[in-house]
Amino acid sequence: MPTDSLPRVVLKPRRAAPFFNRHPWVFAGAVDRIEGSPEAGDIVDVHSSAGAFVARGLFNPASRIRVRLYAWQDGVSLDDDFWAERLREAIALRRKLFAGTPAERACRIVFSEGDGLSGVIIDRYGDYLTVQWTSRALAQRQAVFLEVLQEELQPKGIWLRTEKGIGEIEGLEIRDGLLSGEAPPRPLIVEEQGLSFAVDIVEGQKTGFFFDQRENRAAVARYASGANVLDTFCYTGGFGIAAAKLGGAARVTSVDSSAPALALAGRNAEMNGVQERMQFENANAFRKLEELKETQARFDLVILDPPKMARNQNGLEKALRGYFSLNRLAIDLLPPGGILATCSCSGLVTREDFEGMLQQTALQSKRRVQILEARLQAPDHPFTPACPETLYLKCYICRVL
Ligand code: SAH
Repeated sequence: MPTDSLPRVVLKPRRAAPFFNRHPWVFAGAVDRIEGSPEAGDIVDVHSSAGAFVARGLFNPASRIRVRLYAWQDGVSLDDDFWAERLREAIALRRKLFAGTPAERACRIVFSEGDGLSGVIIDRYGDYLTVQWTSRALAQRQAVFLEVLQEELQPKGIWLRTEKGIGEIEGLEIRDGLLSGEAPPRPLIVEEQGLSFAVDIVEGQKTGFFFDQRENRAAVARYASGANVLDTFCYTGGFGIAAAKLGGAARVTSVDSSAPALALAGRNAEMNGVQERMQFENANAFRKLEELKETQARFDLVILDPPKMARNQNGLEKALRGYFSLNRLAIDLLPPGGILATCSCSGLVTREDFEGMLQQTALQSKRRVQILEARLQAPDHPFTPACPETLYLKCYICRVL
């Protein structure tokens, strides 16, 4: 479609800089006016108030993200070929990263903005895929995505997962269910660096498994030899099982507040032959840490992997206090020389914030904290400085003296 026939979204004065810098979300508040009458899902051009072309994207009048941007050169068509090409690029990256390793069949295939595809997450679980739309406009283009996925990966089945609240956020009325092929077994089994995990992609948290911690689980396991390990927020056992099997931990106590997650965790421990060295507890991790502190329990390695704590800027302070209390409690369980592996998946908490929190924790605990590894999300979750929100996961491995 020629550029001049597309509807235009014109920005308010002085609001164009982030989009010239390739941030893909144009919030309603930055929009001055709309020229033409685009409907939900239509292609629009975003222009500065001075009339310069900024980028091309997809329009959604129901979302706070009024336009999601995909192309910054004038004249690029956002047609089926464009989406197919972006998706093939994403698949090619995973082949490059993981060819010949188990991760090739157990990884994130598309990480939304990180792959230039704002509004969709696709995960591969062996012969099955999950697709999660966070953009209504992109969801309208589902057919081309399914076609390319089928062609490139030949899945036995593709399952749709929806994020809670997406109906209100994007005006996207969809329900979890089968998109093509056959329904996935429950659970199905995936492999990760010599470990096997049972995953429920239908009811499990997020899309079933946390691939973003793959390399971090292996990294933390390297500190586990002979150790007494506490794995809090263990979900289906990831870090603890890696510590036991890959790292040779002597004992692992894994804690989570979700019974279905723990049921799979127990099964995973057995599948990996480490059940004798593991024990699982259904508990609130904060309370469990307090209780362990009261009984003066000691662990050589404590893992903290809480769920997202800050949903918006207003929640940031509270989240930082939450991280502080957790880390403070964890440090009290470590003898001098003990290892703390502490994570945050809140995108709003920056690396500086997190390191500041660790510094405060060290001061208040009167302990010395050495950061041995400052790690991020796995490479199948690529991030881009153009959209800082794409960098969300931090995993610090520290020695506490
Ligand atoms: N470490 C896991 C992923 C953790 S996801 C892995 O490697 O796979 C976060 C987990 O925290 C979820 O399993 C959720 O059930 C659990 N959770 C949330 N709030 C909790 C709380 N207050 N106490 C204990 N577990 C909690």
